[in-house]
Amino acid sequence: MPKLTRRNFLKFGAATGTLLAGGSKTLQAMELKFGGEDRHQIRPFHPRATYNYICSLCPYHDCGIAFVEGGKVVKLEGNPDHIATRGKFCPKGIAGLLAVYDPDRVLYPLKRAGKRGEGKWKRITWDEAIKEISGNIKSAMDSNAVKEIILNTGEYRDSAVIRFMQTIGSESVFRSRLTSLSNPNKNKALLDTVGVDTLTPDFANSRYVLNFGANIIETAFPFAQRLTDAIVEKRLKLVTFDVRLSNTAGRSDEWFPVSPGTDGIVMLAMANVIMQERLADTEFLKNWTNYPIDKLASYLKQWTPELAEEKSGVKADDIKRIAIEFADTKPGIVFTNNGISYHLNGTESERAAVLLSAVTGNIDVKGGLCLPKKFEIQNPRLKAEGGRLKAKNMNYHLPFKIKDGSQKVAVLLNYMSNPAYSSPAASVWRDVLKDEKLVPFIVEFSPFMSETGELADIILPDVVSIERHDVVSSPTALKPWVGVTTPILKPQGEAMDVRMVIQKIVKEIDPDGKGIASQWAFNDEAEWVKKQIKETPELKDKYEDIMDKGMYPVYGKLDSKGRKIVDENGKAVDGDYGVYKKSGFPTSSKKIQIHEKKGQSPLTALPAWQENPKHKGLKEGEFVLTTFKWAYHTNSRTGNLKYLSEIIHSNPVWINKKEAVKLGIKDGGLVRVISPVGHIVTKAFVTNGINPKSAAISASVGRWAYGRVAMANPARKPEFETGLHDLDIDDNLWWRDKGVNPNDIMPVSVDPVGGGQAWFDTVVKIEPAKPGDKYGDVKVDNERHVSIYKETDGVMGQGSGGKA
Ligand code: SF4
Repeated sequence: MPKLTRRNFLKFGAATGTLLAGGSKTLQAMELKFGGEDRHQIRPFHPRATYNYICSLCPYHDCGIAFVEGGKVVKLEGNPDHIATRGKFCPKGIAGLLAVYDPDRVLYPLKRAGKRGEGKWKRITWDEAIKEISGNIKSAMDSNAVKEIILNTGEYRDSAVIRFMQTIGSESVFRSRLTSLSNPNKNKALLDTVGVDTLTPDFANSRYVLNFGANIIETAFPFAQRLTDAIVEKRLKLVTFDVRLSNTAGRSDEWFPVSPGTDGIVMLAMANVIMQERLADTEFLKNWTNYPIDKLASYLKQWTPELAEEKSGVKADDIKRIAIEFADTKPGIVFTNNGISYHLNGTESERAAVLLSAVTGNIDVKGGLCLPKKFEIQNPRLKAEGGRLKAKNMNYHLPFKIKDGSQKVAVLLNYMSNPAYSSPAASVWRDVLKDEKLVPFIVEFSPFMSETGELADIILPDVVSIERHDVVSSPTALKPWVGVTTPILKPQGEAMDVRMVIQKIVKEIDPDGKGIASQWAFNDEAEWVKKQIKETPELKDKYEDIMDKGMYPVYGKLDSKGRKIVDENGKAVDGDYGVYKKSGFPTSSKKIQIHEKKGQSPLTALPAWQENPKHKGLKEGEFVLTTFKWAYHTNSRTGNLKYLSEIIHSNPVWINKKEAVKLGIKDGGLVRVISPVGHIVTKAFVTNGINPKSAAISASVGRWAYGRVAMANPARKPEFETGLHDLDIDDNLWWRDKGVNPNDIMPVSVDPVGGGQAWFDTVVKIEPAKPGDKYGDVKVDNERHVSIYKETDGVMGQGSGGKA
């Protein structure tokens, strides 16, 4: 008899119907065998309490409810009254429960006991950890080297650590993004044109969505559910331009497998058609943009549908037809995301998207693309507040700057970021972090071991979402909201909130409490949150309301059909639209600046499109590589959540069927993916669902220093003290394929205008694997990474493009 596992049990049950007929008892017995304590089991008549919290697994920060039985969290789900989610969580949010009780979690401060990266750790006390960290920071401060104290951080939940850097006076803060919901190129384009760094789509009321390069249904969940409702109810037409048949493209009315990096020229051609056909919203253009309509029409004439067809592969007739349909079907949304932004011409393409929205008057109208609505939550006051982070703070540059000596390091603090695995040129990061001369002291704040944590000197156990006390606002709805997490559980082990850790560090550095410690004088996280709320003007007298309901405002209740939030009269709560009409857009002209005066910024005067020279004339076997995410994973934080990795744990490279036949590549066969800096060996996924010039591979897998689930290796228990166990991992982790990390072979290449990494521009060769190649091989040349970094800096030039 085969070994009883959840997988073969479910297969057997599905085949025989036993799941219905008495199967539940067997399933329960099996779960007891495999799950041991079975903490997720629902017990009849067992008292169950609910708590409000915020999911922090991704930047959307959706409001949720945690169900607690017998002191343990047994279930997480969305809060049905939350205006943004209406109770719908994505798979990551639901599986987030596993993070709390992860048996591979770091529960105590750890100090490196062997060489860097050797994996040997010893448990130390918090006092020992704080003394050592403070000593290193103080010695850098005392020797006038405060700029050598560096913070590398993930792009959200990091306001307290950034505030710490402001406290000590170091500007050396680096991130992988500058704001949470947009990437740097989109940031730059939106700030320069509309004056805000993100826009919110009103899918619930839209009739036509032009989606350029966004996998909305999988990766933009608070928006996705409204889009999905509208698709199911046939309320809108969805047209997707994407190199890959993503789950969003597959659910669209029409999908165009556009050539990589050419979305911008398609948008400009559409704007041209709309102007020529006299379908533009001339009133909006006249009143709310900063360029004369006749001059705009004349400028756009150079971007013909025929030229766009030549570059993008989308037929000119389709471009004309879709443009006319879109202009005729109001309201509509031009939605963009990483697919168009993560290119060297990303900023310009994002400007073209704003232009297309403006030409059709679809900005901040019901059913259009709306100005963001959120509360600007303040940090407790600090004497010297820092300014907005700039493109120079992008962390892609950091390892190269450390390597060439232009950024010296005394202490590296790493918070919520895993660059040794998830950055482009991740192997260069590892090279630098291993070198104790370049980076003498590394502190990692994290609830889990990671590829970056593995190279740290001290690891401090951070808390997870439901152990925090936090207040957050995110522009995911058409009305502003704020949500709160109150600590539901005492943190596992000795995990500690980063604000309390920082307070201990500053007290150690400033024992009299008259210097920097005076700026961290609060009793606990609750007092910090109270101050945050009191110091946010629109919320200052709402503390009790927020704590009572877990969110504010509560605009209404979810209606019985589960589609809308309705007020006490049963009326659907509407969004706030047209807010710009009161005082204009937040730009210098108070209008949308589709025209930039020359010399004012590195942007072209009007949105333009420029071809990436490396994408011209690709030879047989050459492709432009795109990476992508599934709904089940974030970049780096979900790999050990078994519910998710059980579904997605490997990443074959997508290749077009006709191209695969020419190259002798079979579906499932081993291939080399060769970039200018090295190669990986993975399997091929041969499909018609990708543009012939593109290849695609998902990220988020291929881990080597995380939990056992992420590494698909139940035998490799952590080499540090944990205290938790889970038989479901010991006995029931059935897969051994952990995927291949593609980030080592992605060279750093940055859009010179917006500063964002051109993640989707790398030209690779794909060929059948060579004798001796093994699945999972990664070979990379870090010196080549360095020389490419130097070569590509500014490759597209600044300010060239269309003729204004
Ligand atoms: S989209 Fe998913 S992971 Fe992100 S906040 Fe919402 S539930 Fe959490």
